Amino acid sequence: MRVLYRSLYFKIILILIIFIATIMAVVGTILLNGVSSYFAEDFRKQMEESFVPGAELYDYLEEVVGRGDGAAAMVIMLDAYSGHLGLDANRSAAILDENGAVLAASDTSSMFHIGETVYLTPNILSVMNGGSGSEQRAGADSLDFCIRIASETESYLVYVRDSKEEMQDLNWMLFSIILQALLFGSLFAILLSFFLAKTITAPIQSLTRGAQQIAAGEFEQEIDVHSRDEIGTLTDTFNHMKSVLKNTIDQVSGEQKKLETVFFYLKDAVVAFRDDGSVMHQNTTARDLFVPLMEGAVLTEQGDAEEAQTMTLAWLLRLCGIEDNPIFRAALERDSETGDEGYVLREIALRERVFDVSLGNFRYMENNENHTGVIAVIHDVTGRYELDRSRREFVANVSHELRTPLTSIKGAAETVLRYPDMPSDMRESFLSMAVEESDRMTRIVGDLLVLSRLDNNRTKWEISTFSVEAVIRHMCEVVKNDIAEHRHTLSVRLDDNLPQITADKDRVEQVLLNILTNAVKYTPDGGQILLRAAANRSHVAISVRDNGIGIPKEDQPHLFERFYRVEKSRTTGAGGTGLGLAIAKELVEAHGGKIKLNSVLGRGTELTVILPIRSPLADEAAQEEEPTA
Ligand code: ADP
Repeated sequence: MRVLYRSLYFKIILILIIFIATIMAVVGTILLNGVSSYFAEDFRKQMEESFVPGAELYDYLEEVVGRGDGAAAMVIMLDAYSGHLGLDANRSAAILDENGAVLAASDTSSMFHIGETVYLTPNILSVMNGGSGSEQRAGADSLDFCIRIASETESYLVYVRDSKEEMQDLNWMLFSIILQALLFGSLFAILLSFFLAKTITAPIQSLTRGAQQIAAGEFEQEIDVHSRDEIGTLTDTFNHMKSVLKNTIDQVSGEQKKLETVFFYLKDAVVAFRDDGSVMHQNTTARDLFVPLMEGAVLTEQGDAEEAQTMTLAWLLRLCGIEDNPIFRAALERDSETGDEGYVLREIALRERVFDVSLGNFRYMENNENHTGVIAVIHDVTGRYELDRSRREFVANVSHELRTPLTSIKGAAETVLRYPDMPSDMRESFLSMAVEESDRMTRIVGDLLVLSRLDNNRTKWEISTFSVEAVIRHMCEVVKNDIAEHRHTLSVRLDDNLPQITADKDRVEQVLLNILTNAVKYTPDGGQILLRAAANRSHVAISVRDNGIGIPKEDQPHLFERFYRVEKSRTTGAGGTGLGLAIAKELVEAHGGKIKLNSVLGRGTELTVILPIRSPLADEAAQEEEPTA
């Protein structure tokens, strides 16, 4: 019901009814007033025409006034002219004396009673005072007219009064007509407003539906334009606005998609925090990076294990050594006021990794309120650190490895110089030590050269196709004396049909030699060394197994690093450079192969080299040759 009150339909009905009622009231008032003044005017005219010197009635009245029964004669005269004067039940005439007492009254009169003094109206009073008695007052209960008719001896007042009833009857009739017209007009207004409302509201309703569709994100449907009026123009404008809006939204969402894609596939972790510190968005890198890190945090920060389950700004800031307080927020804020992106950069170490964390702020809307959140961009710089660290270590190792033999050589040379009379066998042993140490230095420098060429891609590969079996047999010959010296047993077990491979033969031999000599070195005398080889369609696998000292688990991941040597083996005086396996690994990998380690401390070690039958190096070499061919 309330809706009906507020509806356009109701308003139109109301307006129309008020309109009709107003018109009726105005017309009615004019009409009723017109009738009243017409009556009054007509009455005045009738009286003035009858009671004017020269008029028949007036002359007769003047004639009879002087007679003895003047009043009675005058009334007879008035009755005779009753038609002319309009005398009837509502209009009467009377003859009054100078005090207003009724001397005689016309026939039809019920208003005047002989002997009674009439109410002295302004007209009567005016005539009594010698003035005119034809004034008519609006709003008076009745119309009246008074005139003095006098002879030399007698003087009477002729008084005519109209009760206005006739006029009131007419007014009532008019009033009821107006009332009926109002009633019909209202009914008509209700009907009319129904149609009017329909024509006005139908396009508005379709506009409303269109607006609702836009609010629901549907932009496809055009709103039909039914009319060419203001609402039609509004609908046109609305349709235009819709298409502009759609284009804008398409553009914005396109941009957003682009940014989202960038955001999600960014190598850096990006996390947007709300101002309460909870995560608003994070990209895949952030999730991949932080889920394991958070698990670590749960282990290390027992106190707030629960908090660490989900990343929060507080957690990240604590890692950065920053307290989330107004000063920190203001620091971000201040920068953004100057137009620069406000940011704070920190380096954090977490679970053996190092990160650069940049923190900046951003504005967002939530629940119709403006907020300032914090965006963290987390860049993993562990690689850079590792590289730096391994470089430093490498330089330290090289210096150390070269200084040791140099010190020995210098010591030996100085001793020989200082004691010229030294027994010759002693001098010889000093000198041969110097030679040995310089050989070792040469070996180290040679190995470093190999590695440096590999690092800089400057290795000259000599690719050929050769038999794996032949290479293996050759290497066995090379280490034969060493094996015999340490009383090891070398067993060789090769699959039938080992293929020919295409690779750098010398380098493959070098790899095998390094592995074999290690097996010889790190196996106590009288050990068992087993060399096996097998092949499938694409690869050959050559493995060397010994039952030597083995390698501790914790050393195994580092075994192929440059200069890495297991602490214990150093004390055995095996005297390696720690570069052999590093070189072997890099040579094998350059050939597109792999090297695998399987070792148990105290039980023995097995190293397996897997090489492709045709090394990618062969293709590279072929390509390089092509232009000259
Ligand atoms: P090195 O010149 O010291 O032998 P490598 O790079 O060849 O250097 O080997 C690195 C380290 O790996 C060695 O110092 C040794 O401790 C360990 N190692 C290599 N091969 C074996 C093996 N067959 N048995 C036990 N330890 C080995």
